[in-house]
Amino acid sequence: MKTAPLKTSIATVSIAGTLKEKLAAIAAAGFDGIEIFENDFLAFDGSPREVGAMARDHGLEITLFQPFRDFEGMPEPHRTRAFDRAERKFDLMEDLGTDLVLVCSSVSPIALGGIDRIAEDFHALGEQAAQRGLRVGYEALAWGRHINDHRDAWEVVRRANHPNVGLILDSFHSLSRKIESDTIRAIPGDKIFFLQLADAPLIDMDLLYWSRHFRTMPGEGDLPVVDFMRAVAATGYGGPVSLEIFNDQFRGGSPQAISVDGHRSLMWLMDTVRREEPDIRIEVPAMPGPRTLEAVEFVEFATDGQGALDLEEDLVRFGFTRTARHRSKAVTLWHQGEMSILVNREATGHARAAFEAHGTTVCDIGLRVDDARATFDRAVALGAQGAENPAGPGELAIPAIQGLRGGLIHFLDGSPELSRFREIDFLPLAPSPSPPRPVGLVRVDHLAQTMTAEDMPGWVLFYTTLFKTRKTPVMDVVDPAGLIRSQAIESLGGGPRITLNGAENRRTVAGRFLVEGPGSSIQHLALLTDDLFASAEALRENGFRPLEISRNYHDDLEARLGLEPTLGDRLRQGHILLDQSGGGGRYLQLYGPTRGDGFFFEIVERSGGYDGYGAPNAPFRIAAQKRRAREPDARKA
Ligand code: MG
Ligand code: MG
Repeated sequence: MKTAPLKTSIATVSIAGTLKEKLAAIAAAGFDGIEIFENDFLAFDGSPREVGAMARDHGLEITLFQPFRDFEGMPEPHRTRAFDRAERKFDLMEDLGTDLVLVCSSVSPIALGGIDRIAEDFHALGEQAAQRGLRVGYEALAWGRHINDHRDAWEVVRRANHPNVGLILDSFHSLSRKIESDTIRAIPGDKIFFLQLADAPLIDMDLLYWSRHFRTMPGEGDLPVVDFMRAVAATGYGGPVSLEIFNDQFRGGSPQAISVDGHRSLMWLMDTVRREEPDIRIEVPAMPGPRTLEAVEFVEFATDGQGALDLEEDLVRFGFTRTARHRSKAVTLWHQGEMSILVNREATGHARAAFEAHGTTVCDIGLRVDDARATFDRAVALGAQGAENPAGPGELAIPAIQGLRGGLIHFLDGSPELSRFREIDFLPLAPSPSPPRPVGLVRVDHLAQTMTAEDMPGWVLFYTTLFKTRKTPVMDVVDPAGLIRSQAIESLGGGPRITLNGAENRRTVAGRFLVEGPGSSIQHLALLTDDLFASAEALRENGFRPLEISRNYHDDLEARLGLEPTLGDRLRQGHILLDQSGGGGRYLQLYGPTRGDGFFFEIVERSGGYDGYGAPNAPFRIAAQKRRAREPDARKA
């Protein structure tokens, strides 16, 4: 059926900036076209012809002009006036150089309704448009006065029976009202003139407010956008696939980043639909399927001077052994269980830049995946930047992409070379004469990444589109200085988890971690032990000083959970936090000191199928960290 390549588009209202900035960002992200939202045009100081030329200069087609409101079903004299208004919009469209206008269903209190009256109005408008070679698309707003369902809008278009009148589908309007997507499959694809896509988090609120403020890119929210797109694809629809996102955070965010996220969401969506509907031809660039995230292979710290000595002191206390040094770089490798930590003291390069900006900080991570090259290829197909990662003679070229405020995300796998990166890129060091006492840490349980609340949907999209994952609902974590939005990405198949924390303001512990400017990094690393009490004892003997938790927390915990007094005492003495889940799941947490601009280690034990991250304990951990930061000997390394 469909033979034309996929045409991607985005409504100018979806991103921040002046019209010129928007066009540049949209074009750079790889879109083919734009919907011109009337307000963007009205705010622009230039003629419609200039807008059209500017778009074409950026290689962008104007796919749609919108919106034309409150047109149909009106009594006279309003009806005549509506047709006059349409004529003026048509003039504008000719100047812009677009042939399609979006008419959204009327919300006018004086609109009469009546499906044949409405259909007749559209037939007449189709005639008017046809004289100028233009087309009219009708969209059912979820809060339209008489037409608020795509099935009714389709019936209007069917009865209007005019070649220049077609249907416009918008996933938000249909999915927010829980209309079955399968109802789209009976509509002829050539009568669907345009497709708008948006997702949204499930929030129980007024439809209009939800739509105007909380739409997100497909894949960032909770609506079944994949099912919707599968149904549209089944009709043979071959027109543009366009994002129409009203979101307060996006309007305040970076036009470049939001555009890249948008393009990623469309590529992911079409790739997913192609995989789920193998009999439907979908022209989207080939890419490997979603990958399996197996483990965190290494975490690399950028550091130097006293900060490096403090970090290494911590690593010794945590039971890591320095086993090797890099062949050509000032990087040492520390090992324990299934984990490696790299300590990078390079005097140049991105690690140095990260250290100079943030103090001792995580600069890179190494993720073990099922296929490193395929993961890299998928990431790049979805808009990630491949990283320049020069390898010295005899060193491995490890596939890596840009991420994490200038740092890299490396991909490793079980292939003969990549699985031996420690032996190939590093030279073994003689064993220490006084090795640290073993602490029993096995692997990385979760990486906790902190970002601004605006950047969070983009990171959710990055991980969930690249890997086979499941995401938890967004939770609010209370910092005494403000809210932190928290969401976990869990690898299917039991691999590591990534928790994303979006800081709403700069006064929270997470917020202060974000130095001015865009950025996102690993703020804490949770290491798993099978026996936290035993690990805590070994840590103590290694000279580890835990983050001190208030007595009141443990008194309350004992009372609230009815703990055995002996268990309560052990938790209290060890400064260990506890959370429980229904069905007997238990989570123990122990925190270390804060480093650099706010990095810390957490040690955790999971048992009985506990699946969370100790969110109820977060406020008490945060309060303890703030108390500790005020102490005179708090390290500022
Ligand atoms: Mg719409
Ligand atoms: Mg944690």
